Amino acid sequence: MIKIEIDVAVSIYLSLSIIILLFWIVFERKSRARIKRKKEDFLWTCPICFYTYIDSKSESISRCPRCKTLHRRGEKL
Ligand SMILES: [Zn+2]
Repeated sequence: MIKIEIDVAVSIYLSLSIIILLFWIVFERKSRARIKRKKEDFLWTCPICFYTYIDSKSESISRCPRCKTLHRRGEKL
């Protein structure tokens, strides 16, 4: 077993806790930013009936759930 002083042990324990806390805050901010961007990507507005819906499967062409028409992203009539 490694012999260390109690103050050294406490300072190592506290610094490890602070490092883990900082990593957690950084990753939490990154994941929140990613979720925010994804929500905007999944949001579609139908140019025919102006119905706004969420479609997470489609990337460029989506089918409106109300009027069943296919339309491209950002398409305007
Ligand atoms: Zn529609």
